[in-house]
Amino acid sequence: MKTLSCRDAGCDCDYVAKGETEEDVLRDATQHGIKEHGKTDKDMIQIHDNLKASIRNS
Ligand SMILES: [Zn+2]
Repeated sequence: MKTLSCRDAGCDCDYVAKGETEEDVLRDATQHGIKEHGKTDKDMIQIHDNLKASIRNS
């Protein structure tokens, strides 16, 4: 299981994206960012590398 904490991505938020693969986690985090933080697809693409670097194995 891989996780990505929204806080690690720089948001003051307790959401943790989860998934079996990096791709799944990033998809979850992207949906969350768009839904809860008013981000656009473009915003999420721009921070994609940062998000990827913040993924943890658990
Ligand atoms: Zn969040």
